[in-house]
Amino acid sequence: MTRFIGSPKPRPAKYITREIKPTVTGEAKITDRQERIPGFSQEVLERLSVVMIGGGGLGGEIGEGLVRKGVGELRIFDGDVVELSNLNRQRFYKKDLYKNKARCLAKNLAREAVKNSIIIGYPFRFQEAVEENIDVSCDLAICGVDNNPTRAYVSKYFYRRETPVVFTAVSRDANNGYVFIQEPDKACFGCLFPNAMNDTTEPCPGVPAIKDILKAVAGLTLYAVDSVFMNRRRNWNYKEIFLASFVPDKAFWVKRKDNCPLYGEHST
Ligand SMILES: [Zn+2]
Repeated sequence: MTRFIGSPKPRPAKYITREIKPTVTGEAKITDRQERIPGFSQEVLERLSVVMIGGGGLGGEIGEGLVRKGVGELRIFDGDVVELSNLNRQRFYKKDLYKNKARCLAKNLAREAVKNSIIIGYPFRFQEAVEENIDVSCDLAICGVDNNPTRAYVSKYFYRRETPVVFTAVSRDANNGYVFIQEPDKACFGCLFPNAMNDTTEPCPGVPAIKDILKAVAGLTLYAVDSVFMNRRRNWNYKEIFLASFVPDKAFWVKRKDNCPLYGEHST
């Protein structure tokens, strides 16, 4: 949870990557296999601009997937610094220790990229970026942070701008995790978790975390992103998986609440 203190404030780190082209006659192009997936559209993904809030365990896995698949633009917001106890699961290396997460993740993802992508890491919390008038407009936002104040802020910010948001989180016992898609005029994060909207507590340091559930939920998030813009079928806006499966996985449509803490009647 360490953050940058004092000045000068670090600047965003921007990377532009280039497609790795076939070198042998008749060789399949790099995205050949995913372009064979029913409903998947490479063209759509390459035009997509994504804002990712949180560059930790979930953000790193999701970001890796997005750049491998060939997302057009990925902008990462995170004000934290890389700590030693992050390295068992987050997309950072020894050389990244004690540096800003968003900047380091952008750099590391630029090495994973195989297509034409723009990857920018902003060393601020999302709220700070908005306050500093940084352009956060996008086609879709992904919120993979560990605290309700940021989730509530992100929900409100993008709902007003009619931009879809994918929220994702894992449980503290690492057994389950969910993905929720907030789309314009549909259920918001407050309809799903009314109590979270007034929760001002930040997580304590040292919250348990492990790679397996992060990877599983990040995969679901990648599918969710495609499903918003492509004909990859989805019969839910909330999906939750349980690794141990003493209770079954869940997938359903969260409905707009009449007494939503964010929008009241949701009268638009
Ligand atoms: Zn709502």
